[in-house]
Amino acid sequence: MALQAGIVGLPNVGKSTLFNAVSNSAKAQASNYRFCTIEPNVGLVNVPDPRLDKLAELVQPERTVPTQIEIVDIAGLVRGASKGEGLGNKFLANIREVDAIIHVIRCFEDENILRDEGPINPVGDKEIIETELQLKDLESVEKKIQRTEKLIKNGDAKMKAELEVLTRCKDQLNQGKSILALGLSKEEKSAIEDIFLLTDKPILYVANVDEASMHTGNKFSDALIEAVKAEGNQVIIMTNAIEAQIAEFDNPEDKQMFMEEYKMTEPALDRLIHSTYKLLNLSTYFTAGVQEVRAWTIHQGWKAPQAASVIHTDFEKGFIKAEVIAYNDFISYKSEAACRENGKLRIEGKEYVVNDGDVMHFRFNV
Ligand code: GDP
Repeated sequence: MALQAGIVGLPNVGKSTLFNAVSNSAKAQASNYRFCTIEPNVGLVNVPDPRLDKLAELVQPERTVPTQIEIVDIAGLVRGASKGEGLGNKFLANIREVDAIIHVIRCFEDENILRDEGPINPVGDKEIIETELQLKDLESVEKKIQRTEKLIKNGDAKMKAELEVLTRCKDQLNQGKSILALGLSKEEKSAIEDIFLLTDKPILYVANVDEASMHTGNKFSDALIEAVKAEGNQVIIMTNAIEAQIAEFDNPEDKQMFMEEYKMTEPALDRLIHSTYKLLNLSTYFTAGVQEVRAWTIHQGWKAPQAASVIHTDFEKGFIKAEVIAYNDFISYKSEAACRENGKLRIEGKEYVVNDGDVMHFRFNV
């Protein structure tokens, strides 16, 4: 299953507009795929990767299949959501399931478009959403602390380390900070694994600016950038309404002309997708056959059998070995056969940790 990023934000900031852009560009791509279902609020988008195009140039396959991520439109967050306002809990349950968050922030003025929170205030808006997520997390952490304290009382001393981590989480949230910023180790994370905290997810911001500011940003996006600087998070400046229009073009020439009018070299949506992929800390490996050259998404650090399971679960179950060519070798020698002749094709076993860019061929029996 593709990894998911969820679009969140206050009402009328341009979430649906962004989602429509994603969804329309996904529909335009759909013919490339054998399996492509798009639910009303889920769009599947290609992740642009120049390496895939280079491999395809060399192999000349029947088809080229990029990797994809799912974008989910999560509507309904308002001030007070953690206490059940608006769609409250439903919204928060949806966020639990995503791997990363795209937070859309209104950076355009338009008195015709309603706003409950007074004058445009990107930093204030960001804090409203953050506070709701933190309050919900605090509730989850406090509940788990109670359960853990009971276990310790009943003599389960092993739980003391967990309690220590949970207490640190509680302090962090009480200071208005996210769990992710706590930088817990993998081991420490096991204490909170089962409560799926909302502020433990990587996040990036979309500053939805007016048309005139799409290349430069404006005072609102500047304020947002300043506010997230210390957190190390990224802000993508774009005009969602324009992106939605770009995505509607079926004809590439018309699309190009439209973008030229706005002095754009690529849709800002592409930048957003690329940044989201990076945010997820993912790795890509390739398969390069005459039928299909394809990019596959895995997590960094995955071993060969687990990486194979992304293609088919049988590949993992019956894994025997993997033939691996480093991406740069494939490009230098120009074919699998030439890599093989020149000793650039390695045979790797179950313990092999897949590198970003590896060109893989799995041997398995079922
Ligand atoms: P959501 O509630 O966050 O999903 O917001 P919508 O995407 O439905 O947008 C709310 C309103 O703002 C709609 O009328 C959009 O047309 C408008 N809107 C969205 N993006 C922009 C933008 O970039 N500029 C301007 N001026 N209006 C926008």
